[in-house]
Amino acid sequence: MAEETKVAGTTAKTRLRRRLRFLRTRARELKMIGKALVSTKHPILVHIIPMRQCNLACTYCNEFDDFSKPVRLEEMKKRLDALADMGTSIITISGGEPLMHPDLDEVIRHIRRRGMIAGLITNGFYLNEERIERLNDGGLEHLQISIDNVAPDEVSKKSLKTLDGRLVMLSQHAIFQVNINSVLGSGVKDPEDALKIAHRAVELGFTSTVGIIHDNNGQLKPLGPREQEIFEEVMALGKRSFSRFNEFQHNVARGREHNWRCRSGSRYLYICEDGLVHWCSQQRGYPGIPLAQYTPEMRHREYSTVKFCAPRCTVSCVQQVGILDNWRDPQNLKPMPMTPPATPQAELVQIGHVRGDS
Ligand code: SF4
Ligand code: SF4
Repeated sequence: MAEETKVAGTTAKTRLRRRLRFLRTRARELKMIGKALVSTKHPILVHIIPMRQCNLACTYCNEFDDFSKPVRLEEMKKRLDALADMGTSIITISGGEPLMHPDLDEVIRHIRRRGMIAGLITNGFYLNEERIERLNDGGLEHLQISIDNVAPDEVSKKSLKTLDGRLVMLSQHAIFQVNINSVLGSGVKDPEDALKIAHRAVELGFTSTVGIIHDNNGQLKPLGPREQEIFEEVMALGKRSFSRFNEFQHNVARGREHNWRCRSGSRYLYICEDGLVHWCSQQRGYPGIPLAQYTPEMRHREYSTVKFCAPRCTVSCVQQVGILDNWRDPQNLKPMPMTPPATPQAELVQIGHVRGDS
């Protein structure tokens, strides 16, 4: 959340707590950047899944089910300890819907206890005043909600209309930073929705980003002229977000392939609910190794491994992590099987249809 914005209904005490948390988080982020520039040996950002189940069923999504159980708290703590021991800087909890996890507050506390920056991606449907206070108390530092449209439709219920009341609650009570992500591109009925969502986000004191969706076969497809205008406007509105430094997204908007070094499997890790390490949510199945068996040598190898999907990638958070290393260490290795004996390797999931980071 923008530190200087005053929102009606926010108490002076909340404003002070928000300001203090903002300054503390910003100081920790600067330290994180310094550490990342000095050494390439640790993960910068990890997405971890405590819960694959989701209360919604967006038709484009293949990152959820409606039956799986939450990962036990003790197991989550073990995984977080392993990541902290690797020197990880930021943990973002994702899903499924992580607010459905019964011990989420304790998961956040453990991330903070181990000195890592704590973020959360949620659809926001379970937020209320009491839940926001618990997230405040747990030490949450970033929260992101993706909103797909202004009014709910058959594709997605994550709409401004259904969520606006919860956004107001966040603007009044949250002391952590809030980012609202909207979407443009293939399958989005009305591109003007993204602009309305972004303006509402800024009005409430949040940062705003926009994700770009491609067609179903993963081809880069340029946005139309009006969509590009909207994209540039939303990026300008989101000027307080780190994403403004992301030139890749401008290339994606223009349908251009981009030349970068994806450091997934090393500087970025995706840990699924089974505790396996994957390149990212869009390339699940490789390397597919249990976190406890994922050695520094494996991370080092992935750091130098060319990712065949990089030129057409739309995963903006991994691209932002990549910026810190793009200027050094060209990649020259090819992916190779790294599964330890007796551990079955999951099937590789490649997804052409990407909706931002949710
Ligand atoms: S996009 Fe998010 S809210 Fe929608 S089904 Fe997938 S995990 Fe659930
Ligand atoms: S899809 Fe993007 S983030 Fe994922 S492995 Fe490929 S290049 Fe990296």
